Amino acid sequence: MTLNTPQRYAVIGNPIEHSRSPAIHAAFARQCGIELQYDRLLAPLDGFADTVETFFANGGRGLNVTVPFKEQAFQLARDHLSDRARIAGAVNTLWHEDGKVHGCNTDGVGLLNDLRRLGHDPAGRRVLLVGAGGAARGVVLPLLAAGCVELRVVNRSSERAVRLHHDVVEQLPQHGRHLSSGSLDEAGSDWDIVINATSSSLVGDAPALPGEIYATGALAYDMVYGTEPTPFMLKARAQGAAACADGLGMLVGQAAASFEIWHGVLPDAVPVLAQLRADLEAG
Ligand code: NDP
Repeated sequence: MTLNTPQRYAVIGNPIEHSRSPAIHAAFARQCGIELQYDRLLAPLDGFADTVETFFANGGRGLNVTVPFKEQAFQLARDHLSDRARIAGAVNTLWHEDGKVHGCNTDGVGLLNDLRRLGHDPAGRRVLLVGAGGAARGVVLPLLAAGCVELRVVNRSSERAVRLHHDVVEQLPQHGRHLSSGSLDEAGSDWDIVINATSSSLVGDAPALPGEIYATGALAYDMVYGTEPTPFMLKARAQGAAACADGLGMLVGQAAASFEIWHGVLPDAVPVLAQLRADLEAG
């Protein structure tokens, strides 16, 4: 690599052509005056590790990882993981340090920053997390660390929520008294923030939650995003949530946190989010 070659980054997945990460990172780079190249990298379904190895061997500096490779990225970086990644069991950010692959999961910090932007800091709040897949796993520890007084994880398959609960308590027992788990119909009531971390909205559905879950002034947040309110957001409005938001801000926030890991500077997500929203609405 010559001195004039821009640092190379990429988002790796399969499929990958839909990814908005190159546009987001290009905008951050302009904002911070950093020259970089950020591509989409399609890995064969049976060739993730080889593709990553080749990327770093050819001078690549960092990778964002998306579906379906986050668990494989976790395995690849298993000796050099952040706490967030360890609890999540999934990695969305890879980089090379001292010749070794390191991994982190920035989904949680992306969510937290977006909740704060929306005026719903989880500190001191009661938070209901719906879902127990990779996305839910990625946000549990950051939500607890942010100081929510109660975090309840509920899932369609309750045993998956219970497993996530136990994994957190096993690794970080100090968080145990703030955490509980159960099935969707054990969601309880009076939640200040309800986060939909399921993929239900992608299939035009909303999780089958009881009707009285929202506290006065509550926020309903769907990790899925789009041009229209999601089924979860529509149902939340009808059930009394005071405010609703989709996950576009989380997407930009997780990218900002990856950018900070790689470049040591945290970009301002707000103008990039506004641009992305405008692009999305323009089709
Ligand atoms: P997984 O496949 O790992 O998990 C899917 C989860 O959704 C499970 O909890 C599953 O429940 C639940 N689920 C699916 N359909 C329904 C339904 N109809 N009703 C109730 N629950 C349902 O996916 P991920 O956790 O990786 O991702 C979840 C969503 O979060 C995705 O839509 C993804 O796009 C989004 N996401 C957004 C991000 C952002 O930056 N905005 C970042 C990461 C993810 P069960 O266990 O019972 O099957």
